[in-house]
Amino acid sequence: MDKWQTSLAYLKGVGPNRARMLKEAMGLETFEDLLHCYPSRYLDRTKFNTIDQLSDSGADVQIIGQIKAVEWIRQTRGKRLVAHFEDDTGTLELVWFRAPTWLKDTLVKNTPYVIFGKINWFKGKPSMPHPEMERLEEYKKRPALGIQAHYPLPEKITQKGLGQRAFHKIMLQLMQQEFSQIEESLPAPLLKSLQLMSKSEALKAIHFPSSQQLLTHARARIKFEELFFIQLQLLLKNLIHKQKIKGEPFEKVGELFHQFYHKELPFELTGAQKRVLKEIRQDFGSGHQMNRLLQGDVGSGKTMVAWMSILLAIDNGFQACLMAPTEILAQQHLQSLQPWAEAMGVSIALLSGSVKTSERKPIHEDLASGKLQVLVGTHALLEEKVKFKHLALAVIDEQHRFGVAQRARLWQKSNIPPHILVMTATPIPRTLAMTLYGDLDVSVIDELPPGRKSVKTVSRGDKNRLRVFQFLKEEIQKGRQVYVVYPLIQESEKMDYKDLMDGYESLSRAFPPPQYQISIVHGQMKPEAKAHEMERFASGKTQILLATTVIEVGVNVPNASVMVIESAERFGLSQLHQLRGRVGRGNAQSFCILMHGVKLSEEAQSRIQTLVSTNDGFEVAEADLRLRGPGNLMGTQQSGVIPLKMADIVKDQPLLSQARRIATELLEGDPQLQKNEHQCLKRSLAKMNPENLLWNYIS
Ligand code: ADP
Ligand code: MG
Repeated sequence: MDKWQTSLAYLKGVGPNRARMLKEAMGLETFEDLLHCYPSRYLDRTKFNTIDQLSDSGADVQIIGQIKAVEWIRQTRGKRLVAHFEDDTGTLELVWFRAPTWLKDTLVKNTPYVIFGKINWFKGKPSMPHPEMERLEEYKKRPALGIQAHYPLPEKITQKGLGQRAFHKIMLQLMQQEFSQIEESLPAPLLKSLQLMSKSEALKAIHFPSSQQLLTHARARIKFEELFFIQLQLLLKNLIHKQKIKGEPFEKVGELFHQFYHKELPFELTGAQKRVLKEIRQDFGSGHQMNRLLQGDVGSGKTMVAWMSILLAIDNGFQACLMAPTEILAQQHLQSLQPWAEAMGVSIALLSGSVKTSERKPIHEDLASGKLQVLVGTHALLEEKVKFKHLALAVIDEQHRFGVAQRARLWQKSNIPPHILVMTATPIPRTLAMTLYGDLDVSVIDELPPGRKSVKTVSRGDKNRLRVFQFLKEEIQKGRQVYVVYPLIQESEKMDYKDLMDGYESLSRAFPPPQYQISIVHGQMKPEAKAHEMERFASGKTQILLATTVIEVGVNVPNASVMVIESAERFGLSQLHQLRGRVGRGNAQSFCILMHGVKLSEEAQSRIQTLVSTNDGFEVAEADLRLRGPGNLMGTQQSGVIPLKMADIVKDQPLLSQARRIATELLEGDPQLQKNEHQCLKRSLAKMNPENLLWNYIS
């Protein structure tokens, strides 16, 4: 058995009681868990202070001195224990509140101690509450403490006598007892070329650093390892996928594609659209199943790329589907594609919750017979009843709403899994994309169609509402249309609904009929009613669309030039950016007005400021990542936790890129990890992911 899997109860100095405490309070069960329980910070104990030099800087200080007297002092509640401590330069009080009675007897007078802690000042006199202390004699016996690790110990266990000191002792025990057996996980040539420390050296330095420099090296080594193994796993997954999963080969770039390109295309494709189409065509021709993520900011023209990919599938005699996360989006997609489909004589239909059962039957039949070539829809598309004759391409829009499991269900719709094109308008910072979607190939549309004016964004307090309304009137006067969006937060749906209705009332007063017409769309409406209201707005019958975030994604009304976001402080950054993307789609100068309340948290201010200062989706995404950390970004929920203990994908971006590059090179040279020197990688991977299917393929 692997010694590292031994229960901590068997470690000298732990025993069953402490083992239970460590497990319950910190989730530490085995030797290995303890080894990888990293310090949360370090205290520099190389320096000593004298009492006359103490300042109120708030830093921890370390002093050598002796206790001259110890006494209990009564206070309003209970009593405190005070020791009078002195060195050659002055005196200091050590204080323990709610101290157990036995503590007094453990303090030895007139014996040198090393004390460590923070200084409190009261009436010009220093004291140190709850010092860490140790007899100088003991202190000298320990390995030189350059810098001392400080572990994130919960109060639950420090109260029961398992404090920093005791924890260090346990850690030291582990190191002394088991140290020689820490297995290296990176290949020797790699360690050498990157000048990385060995794993055992690094772990020793992490827990017992002897200098700041050593610690920095050690941390770099452990961070690299974490990032490297994530990359290795993702790249392997991608590699195996390509080797094992056949896709329908699209042999020809056929007639429909060419005809559309030369005769029907309503505009010149942007360079980025052309490049992405080329990448997709290469995948189609490769004989392997495509698994591609298409990232492009709102309005960058992903729909056209999807449509032309669909044409390629049809040219090769196959069917294609396009799946959207909401009813409205699915309908929008159908509206965009239908004229193009009609012009090309391609059959297309919509399948969503709102399609009646009686109308579904012919769709099911035509899909099964192959008569229907393109199906646009929502989740309804995944239902078992929906069977294709020969599905070869599935385009998924706004992927963060679909889980991996749903992607898998698409696979079962065809003998050979269909090519998958996942489109997202939520720009994912490159580093995060590498970590989350490293197993997909990524295409980026990083260029907007020409002539787009960037949206002017401003933030306005509620007291400016009348001026904002005046501005809206001027825009409407020019023939433009306006969105007004309210937040929708599930937990308080009722309140949101009330906000929306209040907003509707005040808008109706400011914009009275018949001169002004307002559409309203919210989550509690029936799909048909929603579609009807949307349609009135899209066709220009109404000038204002009042909505909750249901229009968050995908809606395309080029004539709309103003987006007013109410209670903008309640929206997340990427949501705000998405909403802003609804305007700026035509040739007119467009505006985004972020309305907000009086009291804003610092984070809310920072979000609003970010939006005002940039239009670049990737910059917004980076800011989001910085503000909220990776765990909260869209998409991460489905991907599970990123298993990083020390590395930070925001702060350690250069290291992440390096890890990616090195993992790529390594796999290029040895895709099966067969070389002797790579066996350590294989062992580590297997350990990380025991049930990982990868290993069935590889070994
Ligand atoms: P998104 O990437 O957000 O899905 P869309 O595909 O909805 O963007 O495109 C936004 C608008 O830009 C649509 O009206 C579309 O017709 C138009 N469009 C797309 N590509 C081009 C292009 N190359 N030149 C001009 N307009 C384009
Ligand atoms: Mg879109």
